[in-house]
Amino acid sequence: MSSSLPIIWRSNSEEYEKARIGRVFNHRRPKRLPLAVVEATCTSHIIDTVLLANQRKCCVSVRSGGHSWAAWSVRDDAILVDLGSFHEISLDEETGIVKASPSTTGRMLNSFLAGKGRMFAGGHCPDVGLGGFLLQGGMGWNCKNWGWACQSIAAIDTITADGSFIHCDADQNSELFWAARGAGPGFPGIITRFYLQTRPSYSHMRSSAYSYSKGDYCRAMDWVLSISADFDSDTEIVAVSSYPLGNDDIEITVLLVTFKNSEEAALKALQGAEDSHPTGTVGHWFCKSTSLEQEYNDQARANPEGHRYTADNAYIRNDANVAELLEEAFTTLPSRKSFALWYSMAPVSRRPLKDMALSMQSDHYFALYTVWEHKEDDEQCQSWVKGIMRDVEVHSEGAYLGDSDFQVRRTRFWGEKEGVKLREIRRKWDPLGRICGYLDAGDISGVDGLENVHEWATKVKI
Ligand SMILES: Cc1cc2nc3c(=O)[nH]c(=O)nc-3n(C[C@H](O)[C@H](O)[C@H](O)COP(=O)(O)OP(=O)(O)OC[C@H]3O[C@@H](n4cnc5c(N)ncnc54)[C@H](O)[C@@H]3O)c2cc1C
Repeated sequence: MSSSLPIIWRSNSEEYEKARIGRVFNHRRPKRLPLAVVEATCTSHIIDTVLLANQRKCCVSVRSGGHSWAAWSVRDDAILVDLGSFHEISLDEETGIVKASPSTTGRMLNSFLAGKGRMFAGGHCPDVGLGGFLLQGGMGWNCKNWGWACQSIAAIDTITADGSFIHCDADQNSELFWAARGAGPGFPGIITRFYLQTRPSYSHMRSSAYSYSKGDYCRAMDWVLSISADFDSDTEIVAVSSYPLGNDDIEITVLLVTFKNSEEAALKALQGAEDSHPTGTVGHWFCKSTSLEQEYNDQARANPEGHRYTADNAYIRNDANVAELLEEAFTTLPSRKSFALWYSMAPVSRRPLKDMALSMQSDHYFALYTVWEHKEDDEQCQSWVKGIMRDVEVHSEGAYLGDSDFQVRRTRFWGEKEGVKLREIRRKWDPLGRICGYLDAGDISGVDGLENVHEWATKVKI
């Protein structure tokens, strides 16, 4: 083991505190105290951390971008390996496969690829790390048509729970390759490199938006629900409820972003919405020029740094009355910076998925992002989320790992057989639970992982 392991042991020092939570996006920071933090800069640091954890019989937790809402990387008595300073990006121009380290963010990756005429449909937020994002499946740009970001993983390099370095793809170590596409924060290894298939970039990104006052919620939702599944295949569609800056009331905005290579194609793609949208908009634009950089900036504004957050989500069943079910969430936001979102997932949700751990989806992705500034408002904001989710969960198939907190709500995250297979793979590859698994209340799930059943709505007390 290298004597130069950059390790910061638990203490009262500022250095430890910064290493513990300095890179955690959510300012509703956990009290949990890791035994130590390793700020890895190379693969051998990661291997040495796993060997050290084996020696001391403790767990290892991982941080890539630090954006998990519940700060999954911060675990009591574990050694946290922080990959924030472990960097790699290189593109094979022949195959279009980019090799990237897990702390590479969506913005970093696309800035690198832009000059080479390529893009990767990573997360909407510029600063989410590839590590957490891809392991969960990854709801990236135009996911409803292009599919889950993890479907573009060609291979991974991983350090296993016993400290071995292995390559995993469809032919070698294929069980871990299967798990890396949907296991989320229960992946039984530490990924050091993703091999990702990129796509050609688009010269004409355009957007249209239609905003309605709260009183027109039903008209706006009914409309967007009616057009989305069959809409143009390079266009993503979202409905967001928020308080626009300086406005005292909630507005519902339907936003369409299209990826095309000519003005004519973009106009043609967006024209259907322009022709069919309900009258009475309070704000509106059509086929406005945009770019990934601009969209990233808008996302960063909607998710400001230095704030307290609670997120939750559900895949609403396709036979539910979606507009009615989501009305309370969309029209009663608990704080000025919070927002509720419906993200169209059809037609991808109607196509068979590749064989991989990711196996939960429906036409309707619904998420709450509750954003506030002061600790005194924790109770009010968190209770609001619980109240909404209690009513929504019974009409849901399950939830997306990426916007979940298993300390609060555990539900179905995989199809039944995939959930069972994932448990078997986790047991086989990490029988001692050396790599921290799913953070449930009290952090007790360990090697067993999550039950993968709706276990909450009927019991919840608010
Ligand atoms: C503002 C914001 C916007 C978001 N937007 C989107 C979006 O558009 N689409 C979407 O799908 N999700 C989105 N998310 C959710 C996001 O993808 C998840 O929170 C994800 O876990 C963040 O990944 P990370 O690496 O930044 O987080 P981290 O907190 O660093 O990692 C989360 C966990 O993933 C596991 N992990 C991470 N890296 C590795 C690794 N190398 N090896 C093994 N395990 C690892 C670990 O268990 C780790 O604790 C958003 C989140 C935020 C805060």
